[in-house]
Amino acid sequence: MARYTGPVCRLCRRERTKLFLKGSKCESNRCPMERRPFPPGEHGRDRTRQGSEYLTQLREKQKARRIYGVLEKQFRNVFEEASRQDGITGENLLRMLELRLDNVVFRAGWGVSRSQARQFVRHGFVTVNGRRVTIPSFRVRRGDKVVLIERARAMAVIEENVRVNRRTLPGWLDNTAGTFEVDVVNLPMREQIDTDVREQLIVELYSK
Ligand code: SF4
Repeated sequence: MARYTGPVCRLCRRERTKLFLKGSKCESNRCPMERRPFPPGEHGRDRTRQGSEYLTQLREKQKARRIYGVLEKQFRNVFEEASRQDGITGENLLRMLELRLDNVVFRAGWGVSRSQARQFVRHGFVTVNGRRVTIPSFRVRRGDKVVLIERARAMAVIEENVRVNRRTLPGWLDNTAGTFEVDVVNLPMREQIDTDVREQLIVELYSK
């Protein structure tokens, strides 16, 4: 599957929930979900959700994939890895998605959305333990230090993001060393992940 390049607000409407993919627009009344909270397309408004069990599970998986901006194959691979680990597979899956470098940049408030955070990583604005990492799916580990490079800190867009976002860091991240430095002090626990996803449904889907 190729990368999705269409209008992302359609994805929210498809999932019938806000996925917060557009930054400040998501919090404003310009959000299409406020005005058209039904699936896109000619018959979107008429469609009622009398979903089968399969459909419910599929939609939950799509929702998670779209929130984190991960393609199907990559998502499946993460799931396979999560299922091989000790512990609850669904929680492992969400933890691994949270530990993506682009997600850390988003959580730190440097990027207004995960897709913008991904762009910052690709452009080489982020270092992990002093080394530049340009792979958004790079998975951070406990004890890692994620830093925004000096040049990027002065960029108007990032200054604005930090000023406006003021995102509360989840308990597994710490920025006491400075706004542009984040330490991964722990692995995220399920209760520290505020992503609105019922991960058990994804496990059921892939276990068929
Ligand atoms: Fe979704 Fe944000 Fe678009 Fe609203 S503005 S539909 S929350 S991406």
